[in-house]
Amino acid sequence: MPNEIFIIKDRCTGCSSCVKVCPTHCISMTDRKEEGVRWKKLAVIDVDKCVFCNACVVDCDKLFDKTLAKGIKDPDFFHAIVMHKEESAAVNIDTTAYKGVWCYAEQRHGKLVPTIFELLNVGGQMAKDLGEEVSAVLIGHKVAQHAQTIIEHGADKVYVLDHPVFEHFVDEAYAAAMKDLIVAEKPNKLLMPASIIGRSFASRVAIMAQTGITADATEFAINAKTRMMHATRPSFGGNLMATILCEKHRPEMATVRPMSFAQTPRQAGRAGKIVNVPVDPAKWNIRTKFVEYKAEAKEQIDITSAEKIVTGGRGLGNPAGFKLIEEFANSIGAAVG
Ligand code: SF4
Ligand code: SF4
Repeated sequence: MPNEIFIIKDRCTGCSSCVKVCPTHCISMTDRKEEGVRWKKLAVIDVDKCVFCNACVVDCDKLFDKTLAKGIKDPDFFHAIVMHKEESAAVNIDTTAYKGVWCYAEQRHGKLVPTIFELLNVGGQMAKDLGEEVSAVLIGHKVAQHAQTIIEHGADKVYVLDHPVFEHFVDEAYAAAMKDLIVAEKPNKLLMPASIIGRSFASRVAIMAQTGITADATEFAINAKTRMMHATRPSFGGNLMATILCEKHRPEMATVRPMSFAQTPRQAGRAGKIVNVPVDPAKWNIRTKFVEYKAEAKEQIDITSAEKIVTGGRGLGNPAGFKLIEEFANSIGAAVG
């Protein structure tokens, strides 16, 4: 039986909660035309865009559980979405068709963030072990000039997606662009920094590309026999190191904890390929609108790339106590964390 998802009309209250959790924006609300209906709106799913992630089902079921918790016995609403997923169809991909290790080159306000050089270190080693290319993906506006720098730090190829829609970070747009590129180019592995921006859209990319992701990994290895990535991350407060595999989906994705790997040195004049990728935002149905960027009153050292971090705890007494920490951090060129 193929994948299937539908709304039980009588149970849908039209609350629109499911619309907000759908990563592919394939749920919309319509007006019910019938006279004397109990609920005015009805959720409708565009099945062609659905990736069967189950998020809406979980969301609607939670509303049902909350209703029960309020003491309403056997409510005849919520629990309104039914999904049947054929597992074998979802995992039947030819993993050998996916080649190359990709590293996401983060930029903020047009400035390249040096985490890409850490990713190129670990990604480059994995590419070498696999006998494949290591590439970078650079998304932004007026950022193309960074491509050569990235090549000089070890990338064989840089995909550049340069468009005004990427001027400010909006995870919907960035994730849609990355997903389209994955579908077109079929990378084998994809590393992204576990920074605020990287975390913000890496999980969205994984859902849209229907693959798995290891968050905040600090060690990587390639299994010579299976050619799979073994991504290891600390768990339970660092008491356990968990090695996570993504066996049946591609690309194997991971976010990489900043400062876990040394940066690749620059080799001036190193040659590589720059691929300018056409961007067509009209097809993405981006609902998030950038309103305003407010910089911190005082420029602080970015904690993700700081070599020194000063931190404080309960002993400081109250938030005002953190002023001491900030003064000390400023005096030694450290970040506050
Ligand atoms: S399907 Fe469920 S969550 Fe979505 S609008 Fe209907 S009742 Fe609300
Ligand atoms: S299963 Fe996922 S993609 Fe499909 S409608 Fe629900 S939330 Fe959207």
